[in-house]
Amino acid sequence: MNMNAISADSIKEKLYHGIRLTKEDGLFLYKECDFLDLAKMAKAQKKQLSGSEVYFNVNCHINLSNICVSRCKFCAFGRDKEDEGAYSMSPKEAFDYGSAHVDSGITEFHVVSAMHPDRQFSYYVDVISRLHAAYPHIHIQGFTAVEIYYFAQISGLSVRRVLTELKNAGLGSLPGGGAEILDDGIRSGLCPHKASSQEWLDIHGTAHELGMKTNCTMLYGHVETIENRVEHMMLLRELQDQTGGFQAFIPLPFLPENTGLSHINRTSSLDDLRTIAVSRLMLDNIEHIKAFWIMLTLPIAQISLDFGADDLDGTIVEERIMHAANANTETGISKNHMIDLIKKSGYIPCERDTVYNILHRYSEGIAEEA
Ligand code: SF4
Repeated sequence: MNMNAISADSIKEKLYHGIRLTKEDGLFLYKECDFLDLAKMAKAQKKQLSGSEVYFNVNCHINLSNICVSRCKFCAFGRDKEDEGAYSMSPKEAFDYGSAHVDSGITEFHVVSAMHPDRQFSYYVDVISRLHAAYPHIHIQGFTAVEIYYFAQISGLSVRRVLTELKNAGLGSLPGGGAEILDDGIRSGLCPHKASSQEWLDIHGTAHELGMKTNCTMLYGHVETIENRVEHMMLLRELQDQTGGFQAFIPLPFLPENTGLSHINRTSSLDDLRTIAVSRLMLDNIEHIKAFWIMLTLPIAQISLDFGADDLDGTIVEERIMHAANANTETGISKNHMIDLIKKSGYIPCERDTVYNILHRYSEGIAEEA
């Protein structure tokens, strides 16, 4: 590959003229571009797309179970049934858990589980139906594409039918998890039982066709190469060209503790910030880049707002999956804390619902740009 002709200036020129960046540009941004030049370019792109606004939502994560047949090498959350700490909520327990947080003003239930060996597909439909029937005003985002794939396997139904039944029960959108790295060589080593790269993409494509918005992620910092990361972004960009259904891209740094890859060092903060910035520049057709503070830590998530991120995810209440890998963060934060963090970074906090309708702009004390 000849990257001689590529420079920060050539990329700035492309961005100025709205010309799409190539794979080689992406590799240059990752491997050679000056860190602060990269930040400036990504921040300028963020400003073009979302001005001074930074989004967050008030949500509650419901992790139905950690009992999982998949046991991916990078996961600290999954358990066998007999393992200490293994749990599985009944539909009533899931409902009661969600109900207990409704009065705190949540606008989203975020429901994610594991690939449980015994639960039937009807169990998941039941969980969604109960929550939706009682709280129709609260958006339910739930089940990654790999869970949808698993539901199709255990039920014998098509992916389209699984998604349709969940949608009819009240599911509003899909989170972006399970993408890991969209490369089947890597997936077969790390998570051989999960949906393949193409199956993951096809499930999102089908959800988009059914009118459901989804998010997309990338788990990085394990065995993948920089080329894998850039190719992953390009696959997402390609699908987005076809469907327009992705709302946000969420880069997720791998947390090695308590996983089968605990010998790998955690990514550096510089890598985390570079990945946010590169994704902002490469994913020109995905509107939002989310800094998932649970994994990044709040200080890095705050700095990432100057590297192209425009969303700090949600208040969460009690996160379990990343904290199984000893994520060095709180399991949830208050809305006021979120507002304060965004304001102190010089941006306007905007509480949004799951599908990015703005519910409240907290612009007091922040200078609006002309
Ligand atoms: S990442 Fe998900 S599918 Fe893989 S072991 Fe963990 S809970 Fe199971």
